[in-house]
Amino acid sequence: MTEPLFDTIAIIGPGLIGSSIARAARARSAVRRIVATARSPETRKRVVELGLADDVVETNAAAVEGADLVIVCVPVGACGAAAEEIGPHLKAGAIVSDVGSVKASIVRDMGPHLPEAVHFVPAHPVAGTEHTGPEAGFAELFENRWCILTPPEGTDPEAVARLAAFWRLLGANVEVMTPEHHDLVLAVTSHLPHLIAYTIVGTADELEAVTRSEVLKFSAGGFRDFTRIAASDPVMWRDVFLNNKDAVLEMLGRFNEDVAALTKAIRRGDGEALQEHFIRTRAIRRGVIEAGQDTPAPDFGRPHGHDD
Ligand code: NAP
Repeated sequence: MTEPLFDTIAIIGPGLIGSSIARAARARSAVRRIVATARSPETRKRVVELGLADDVVETNAAAVEGADLVIVCVPVGACGAAAEEIGPHLKAGAIVSDVGSVKASIVRDMGPHLPEAVHFVPAHPVAGTEHTGPEAGFAELFENRWCILTPPEGTDPEAVARLAAFWRLLGANVEVMTPEHHDLVLAVTSHLPHLIAYTIVGTADELEAVTRSEVLKFSAGGFRDFTRIAASDPVMWRDVFLNNKDAVLEMLGRFNEDVAALTKAIRRGDGEALQEHFIRTRAIRRGVIEAGQDTPAPDFGRPHGHDD
C-alpha cells in the first residue's frame, strides 16, 4: 500500500463538499487521520454518527492543531472569519486550502489572516449537487471532475504539487490558474447558468395565465432541469453572486445582448438566424460530451445517492 499523502487533515464545515472530501480521502487512503469541526452541534453529532472523521472537535482552532492539510469548506462569505480563527493555531508548513466557488474574494478574505509559515493554496472542485449537509456527500463526487487550484503569486510550487496530488488521488483532474481567471471562467460556466435557472423558475412561479400545477405537470418540456439547478443552496449562491460581482455582471451583459438578438430574430420571424444559433449551440453540447463532462444528470444535479 502507498503511503498516505498527509498525516492529519482538518475539515472545517463537513457539509456536502467537506464530507465528500472526508469520505474520498478515507476511501483512497489519502490521509492517516481526519479531524472535522462544524459550527452547529447538530452537524458535529451527525458527523460522529456517520463515522466520517477520526475526531470531531468543537472549534476551528482545535481542529487545525497539528494538521498538515486544512480544508475550509464553509460558504464563501464565511471563509475570511474561519481563516482569522485558525490563523494563530496552524502548524508551520501546513497547507491551507478551501473549496469556495469564487476565488479572488477568497484570496482577499483569507490570505491576510494566514501566517507566513503556512502554504495557502485555494481550490475549487467543480463538482456538486443541489443537496447539502454531511449526509449528502459521497466518496465518488470528484471522480473525473475538475479541481481548479488558484495559488496566489509566490506560493511554494511544492505545496501546490502536493495539493494537486491529493485531489488527483480523490479522482479529480487538476488545473492551475489565477483566481481572477477562475472567476471569469466560472461566471459563464456555472454562475450565469444558476442565475438563469433561479430567474426562470421564479418567472414561472409568478405567471397568472398558466397555473402552478400546469407548470409542474408539463415540466419535462425543459423546466424540470432548471428547477434542479434552482434548488441549489440559497446561502452558498447568495455568497457566489456577492463575491463574483464584476465577472457575473460582465457575462450577464453579454447574455442580455444575445437574448436581445434572439428576441429580434423571433419577432422578425428570422428562422435562419434562429437555426444558425441552435446549430452552433448543439455543437457545444457535443464538445461537453467529448470532454467527458456529461453525466445522466448535470453536475450540479447529480442525485445524492451515487448509484447513477
Ligand atoms: P453545505 O453542505 O451547506 O455545508 C456547509 C458547511 O459550512 C456546513 O458544515 C455548515 O455548518 C458550514 N457553515 C455554513 N455557514 C457557515 C457560517 N456562516 N460560518 C461557519 N460555518 C458555516 O455546503 P457545500 O455545498 O458543502 O458548500 C460548501 C462550500 O463548497 C461553499 O463555499 C461552496 O461555494 C463550495 N462548493 C459547493 C459546490 C456545490 O455544488 N454545492 C460545488 C463546489 C464548491 P452547519 O452544518 O453547522 O450549519
